Amino acid sequence: MSKVLVALIPEPHAPVELREVAEPELELNSALMDVELSEVCGTDVYLQQGRLAGVPYPLVPGHVSVGRLGKIRGTLSDVEGTPFAEGDRVTFLDVHKTCHACWHCLVAKATTRCPSRKVYGITYGLADGLSGGWAEKIYLKPDTRVVRLGDADSETFMAGGCALPTALHAVERAEVEIGDTVLVLGSGPVGLSAVIFALMRGALRVLCIGAPAARLETARIVGAAATLDIETSDEGEREGWVLAQTNGRGADVTIEATGAPVAVAQAMRYTRDAGRVCVVGQYTDHGAVSFNPHLDLNKKHLDVRGCWGSDFSHFYRGAQLMADATRARPWSLMRLERYGLARANDALADVASGRVIKALIDPTLQ
Ligand SMILES: [Zn+2]
Ligand SMILES: [Zn+2]
Repeated sequence: MSKVLVALIPEPHAPVELREVAEPELELNSALMDVELSEVCGTDVYLQQGRLAGVPYPLVPGHVSVGRLGKIRGTLSDVEGTPFAEGDRVTFLDVHKTCHACWHCLVAKATTRCPSRKVYGITYGLADGLSGGWAEKIYLKPDTRVVRLGDADSETFMAGGCALPTALHAVERAEVEIGDTVLVLGSGPVGLSAVIFALMRGALRVLCIGAPAARLETARIVGAAATLDIETSDEGEREGWVLAQTNGRGADVTIEATGAPVAVAQAMRYTRDAGRVCVVGQYTDHGAVSFNPHLDLNKKHLDVRGCWGSDFSHFYRGAQLMADATRARPWSLMRLERYGLARANDALADVASGRVIKALIDPTLQ
């Protein structure tokens, strides 16, 4: 039986380790994907710090990845019903087992809150099989939603990576309209993709507040009209800056993509009367924050929405855009850093410090 090299988090707070595991026997209608690229995102940093509930360690992280179908047993088809062949370049939705039969799926129509759903690289651990992208191969279990990469460039697709469906969902949920001034809080991968999608949806101007300087420069490269560095401004200056950029009114729509609870209250303050706030940056529990219900919410007639995860439609549409070189161009301008499996700890540290725009795991690198 051949062996597969993986990089795994053995338990919370422990460094990533390399391990060789046996290649699995394929169930009917499943496949083995040879990983070309995976990624390190903010969630992986929190996984290493043990900040997410319900994570089965040891865990092979890497929830969005691209590669080639190495082996297929039975039939695996795309959403159009066309079967995949061995050798096809693909990616797959990291969410598995959404049941489409429970109250959340059928009545609330909130499939991202389906209690049956499992996520590759987050709630599937090593005990569930080769289910993370920091590995030479991933086991695509039966009913995994596989998507053809078509003409999409692998590196450009992964510049979006897991942030792509998340940001697409957030911008859709924020109902950005033609001519809006949109404020994006946060300049990590989700914030950067939100800048691009807000413009695609017709925003007139997109403002971005974040850090560090290199990420803000990237925000401007991908289309932000103006940026402000949180490391060199205080709260009063930030509010003044937003008002100065928006005729004293505040942004029409604010998308919070920071991970810091305080940014949610700030998003409410930086948004105009009767505007909208979409909170997408609180995937991990970082605690509580206070706000003034009279001044920050009710009197402003504000609409504040949460945005949890993403579903197949977001992932599929994101992948379609990436196969169109013109639409994918902003992502192709992002600077990426590649790390081999043995350097996963460096990649985590660089993502945690914000030193890199985006860290990719390339299992073919030493
Ligand atoms: Zn992620
Ligand atoms: Zn369900």
